[in-house]
Amino acid sequence: TSSKGSGSGGVNVQVLLRCRPLSEEERRVGTPVVVTCNDQRREVSVAQNIANKQIDRTFAFDKVFGPKSQQQDVFNHAVVPLVSEVLDGYNCTIFAYGQTGTGKTYTMEGGGGGKALNGDLPSDAGVIPRAVKRIFDILEAQSAEYSMKVSFLELYNEELTDLLAPEESKFSDDKSKKPMALMEDGKGGVFVRGLEEELVSSAAEIYRILERGSAKRKTAETLLNKQSSRSHSIFSITIHIKECTHEGEEMIKCGKLNLVDLAGSENISRSGARDGRAREAGEINKSLLTLGRVINTLVEHSGHIPYRDSKLTRLLRDSLGGKTKTCIIATISPSVHCLEETLSTLDYAHRAK
Ligand code: ADP
Ligand code: MG
Repeated sequence: TSSKGSGSGGVNVQVLLRCRPLSEEERRVGTPVVVTCNDQRREVSVAQNIANKQIDRTFAFDKVFGPKSQQQDVFNHAVVPLVSEVLDGYNCTIFAYGQTGTGKTYTMEGGGGGKALNGDLPSDAGVIPRAVKRIFDILEAQSAEYSMKVSFLELYNEELTDLLAPEESKFSDDKSKKPMALMEDGKGGVFVRGLEEELVSSAAEIYRILERGSAKRKTAETLLNKQSSRSHSIFSITIHIKECTHEGEEMIKCGKLNLVDLAGSENISRSGARDGRAREAGEINKSLLTLGRVINTLVEHSGHIPYRDSKLTRLLRDSLGGKTKTCIIATISPSVHCLEETLSTLDYAHRAK
């Protein structure tokens, strides 16, 4: 639960569950629904009779968002508290985890149904633009002196791509592309050599950067003919805020918010989701499995944390564990056709609690 491990310097991991509505097409063909969300009790039930085997399972989460939930609701519960932490100088991470087609990108970026007008966001805007807007609104209300930079990375097959790097030579010739290296800074932190970090000074600027990165992610998918469902995208906002103490001394607070749209969970097996082990030797998504293990170890305080076992967890090391807050938004479909994957997602997300 949310209280588990929270408090002085403890681990704080929240796991939220979101079930998307049936799509128009699914409704048109009369797709049966097998998921019931009880937002009040914070429970999700999956029930189905296959042949003469009855499946009936219920899972509890820190918060449940049923098919009628709005982007605004998810933002208010999942993100608003983390934005405060970030502005207080802590590192926080929000993950979207789930099967492809269940609403990870919808939740993180939005439905793409319109751009910000006069500073107002469209109602289907996702977590990232809403977080950006809130951060600027707060900083401006405080007339704070600050600097902010963003980066946008993609991780595919344990290889990093900078989604903000200049266009030329980027995907034109794959062999000439220098792989980006993850380096240790000798103080327990990591950094990405050659990573483009852009200084930003307005929300509109970030929206443009976000759009550029997303477009690049899509182009790269087509050019390299890879499946988007197998890559993770990591959007990070780093903020330095100048503050004066009561004694009149100046100090700089530094906080960071990572917003991660994970690879489709169908890339790991059911047993992998359940006990964190890949079924086959050739695991498809090391980062997804390792993330599950890292979070599980953090939550259970059960010893060695295997950060080093994947690029994703190495990259996010300074934002996972210690004095950080993590929120996992697990997304599922209500459809009978997704039953197996839904159970797998519920198992994975539940293990993280
Ligand atoms: P993923 O990123 O997990 O593969 P998407 O975010 O692309 O999934 O969502 C798949 C489709 O479902 C998109 O057309 C998206 O707009 C729609 N969708 C997902 N979640 C919701 C939701 N909560 N409400 C309305 N439409 C949604
Ligand atoms: Mg997506």
